[in-house]
Amino acid sequence: MIRITRAPLPQAALTSMAGYTGDIGQATIPGQRAKELWKHTTVRRHVHPVLKRTLAEMAPGLERCMYCGDNQGTDIDHFEPVRINPLRTFDWHNHLLACSLCNSHLKRDLFPISCDGTPLLIDPSSEDPAAHLHLSLAAGAYVKLSDRGEATIKVFGLNRPILIRGRRRAYLATPPLLNRWHEAFVKGDLDEAADWADTIWEQPTADVVHAMFHQAVTPGAEDVFADESETLALLRDPVIRAALLRTD
Ligand SMILES: [Zn+2]
Repeated sequence: MIRITRAPLPQAALTSMAGYTGDIGQATIPGQRAKELWKHTTVRRHVHPVLKRTLAEMAPGLERCMYCGDNQGTDIDHFEPVRINPLRTFDWHNHLLACSLCNSHLKRDLFPISCDGTPLLIDPSSEDPAAHLHLSLAAGAYVKLSDRGEATIKVFGLNRPILIRGRRRAYLATPPLLNRWHEAFVKGDLDEAADWADTIWEQPTADVVHAMFHQAVTPGAEDVFADESETLALLRDPVIRAALLRTD
C-alpha cells in the first residue's frame, strides 16, 4: 500500500454530490436513503463514471487497487462504510479505488475503531501508510509498525500468499528493468527510457518499487541490499531518482 495523492473532482460532480448529501441528511432513515441514492440510475450514469475516472488516474500502476496494489481497481470503495456513516456516501474524500476482492470480500463493512474511538484502517489518500506498515522486500510481506498497521494488514489481507509471491517476483524483476532504463538513458534514447520507466511502475505491486527506492536511502540500506550493491547504487543514483521516482 503506497501513498495516493487525491486529485480534484470537477466542480459539477462536487455540487451534485453535496445535493445528495443534503437529501440523505434530511431523510427519516439516512442509511436507507444513502443506499437508494448510490444505486440510483442517475447517479450510476452521471456520478460513478466521474468518480471512477478520477480515481483511476490517481491509482498506482495500471489502475491498480489502492489497497492491495495487485488487481485492477474496479469498485468505488467507501472507506468509511455507508452503513456506519451514510452522510459520507457522497464525500469525495471517502472514495477509494479497490478491487472487488478487497472491497466486497475482505473489507466489506469492516471499519475497526481503536479504544479512543479513532479509525484503525489506513486511508492511503490521507496519510502515508509507511508510518504504520513496513514492506520486507526479501519476504514480500508487510510488517506492522503499529496497531493501525496490524488492523490494515488483517482487514485487507495484505499478506495473502498470492500477494507475497507477486511482490517477490517484482523484487526480482525490478533491478534488470532499472538497468535497461539506465542503458537507454546513457545512450540518449529518451523514448526507450520512458518506456522502461512505465514498465517499472506499471508492474502490479508497485509498492515494491516504491519500497526499494525508499529503503535504499534509509538507515540499514546496506543490510537490506546486502548482496545487491549494484542495485543499491542504481536506486541511490540522483539521476535515476529524479527521473523515476513518482511517489514521495
Ligand atoms: Zn485489492
